[in-house]
Amino acid sequence: MRLRHKPWAEEFIAAHPEIVIANPEEHKGKWHEVFGNDHPLHIEVGTGKGQFVTGMALANPDINYIGIELYDSVIVCAVETILEAGEIPNLRLLKVNGSDLHKFFQKNDVKQVYLNFSDPWPKTRHAKRRLTHEEFLKLYESILVDFGEIHFKTDNRGLFEFSLLSMSSYGMLLKDVSLDLHANPPEGNVMTEYEEKFSAKGQPIYRLESQFVKKESL
Ligand code: SAM
Repeated sequence: MRLRHKPWAEEFIAAHPEIVIANPEEHKGKWHEVFGNDHPLHIEVGTGKGQFVTGMALANPDINYIGIELYDSVIVCAVETILEAGEIPNLRLLKVNGSDLHKFFQKNDVKQVYLNFSDPWPKTRHAKRRLTHEEFLKLYESILVDFGEIHFKTDNRGLFEFSLLSMSSYGMLLKDVSLDLHANPPEGNVMTEYEEKFSAKGQPIYRLESQFVKKESL
């Protein structure tokens, strides 16, 4: 994603505390207080301009969603997407690094993790930055409920193959794997910005659902 410097971004984010949570570490273990209900929490790491998480939150009012994005200049677009959609009580954003999830969530806080078109980091020396690297899987497992799931979509075949290997060697159950999502899209598939762009060019979209299993049941 091309990043444009937006000098006004910080101020704009601070002006929308109802959407971008200002001190997320204060809510660790008690996110239900933020949403005012006990509905399950799904998070998307690398939410970009927010189209997916907004669409999911509108379609599933009984699920709470948090979109996580690293950059000010990108998250402002997600805030605009949400403002345009109207009030969405079951959706919030965090402007944090996905590698710090343990600071904001604890075991059992999250039911499902979405990773959509994550940066592929193709160089081997950058493999640890891939959001499906073993170190990230450990992190997700530490905040998810038992048998929590990851749902992952990408256009990048190399990243998809790496992720299949990483998840299966971690001992995760691969539940649903598609090498061409749009050949037979599942009901209710909400498209991300990147998914729209790449599928319009005829590129296959890879998708998987994987689940953590108790290590003793392996
Ligand atoms: N998910 C969107 C989509 O499918 O259209 C955006 C995809 S874009 C290629 C990847 C996004 O992930 C970027 O907005 C980037 O800033 C964000 N990102 C990358 N690494 C991240 C990290 N460690 N924590 C949070 N966000 C991250």
